[in-house]
Amino acid sequence: DVLVIGSNMIDLITYIDRMPVEGETVEAPDFQMGFGGKGANQAVAAARLGSKVSFISMVGNDSFGKQQLANFKSNSIDTTGVGVGSKSSGAAPIFVDPTSDNRILIIKGANNELTPAVLDNYIDLIQNTKIVVLQQEIPLETNYHAIDLANEFKIPVLLNPAPANKELDINHVSKVDFFSPNETELSTLTGMPTSNLDEIKRAASRMVTMGVKNIIVTLGSKGVLWVNNTNSELIPAIKVKAVDTTGAGDSFIGSFAHYYAQGEDIPVALKHANQYAAVTVTRKGTQKSYPTATELLSLTN
Ligand code: ADP
Repeated sequence: DVLVIGSNMIDLITYIDRMPVEGETVEAPDFQMGFGGKGANQAVAAARLGSKVSFISMVGNDSFGKQQLANFKSNSIDTTGVGVGSKSSGAAPIFVDPTSDNRILIIKGANNELTPAVLDNYIDLIQNTKIVVLQQEIPLETNYHAIDLANEFKIPVLLNPAPANKELDINHVSKVDFFSPNETELSTLTGMPTSNLDEIKRAASRMVTMGVKNIIVTLGSKGVLWVNNTNSELIPAIKVKAVDTTGAGDSFIGSFAHYYAQGEDIPVALKHANQYAAVTVTRKGTQKSYPTATELLSLTN
């Protein structure tokens, strides 16, 4: 079983020829709505692989919120912990220009209403899971409280510190079992350079000396680096033709949580997640690109 505590967003993807200037209206050639938010993406990845997934999250009191709930249910995610807030649903207007460069706005909306106190209503969900998965699109204090509660019940915690936040308190990070940044997030947190593998290893080792049990650094097409007290192992990425890497990090985290919750040893779970994430970059879209366990078998054989 996997418990994800985190965000949900509606992606409003607008394909533009160019950005309008102030006061100008410009016609854009295409538009697409998508289900996103790091928490929701990770929950969907784990659920598609067959984990029993519970999600603690807040949707807005609007039609987007209803669509989010329907999407969680159609992915067989337990929505006991999904509340309806008073703000709008989280939304992300994304502008993609003809060269595929992105400009993204994030309106957290109801995600900011996922306060520490909300978690106290779902103690049983935290007590009865194999792993608690956290990201950073909800208030930091809520993550700190989640870490404390999970520690109290001896439930492993994975914190994916994305998007990067300089305010993240290392005293809380040191209490997680898995800390999974990308290179940029690792650099933000340690204040150390991470522009090559040696620098990344040094920054990850620094975090281990601060008390984090396992650092899992996702390195895009270079794969994944796993560092703990006794080990430093690079798992190279699977060679694939990348079509769309949006949401690759979330597919990696969600699938790792699934494999770990199934009882796989850490290195085995990492290899399987590396494989899963590689498949998702060969397909367009975010959640749309996440295969089910059955699809995964047919895609990798
Ligand atoms: P984020 O989106 O958080 O920056 P990454 O880009 O590091 O995440 O990607 C997460 C994981 O997805 C990688 O560690 C790797 O397993 C997989 N991945 C990403 N890009 C590729 C690629 N081009 N080829 C194969 N695997 C990839």
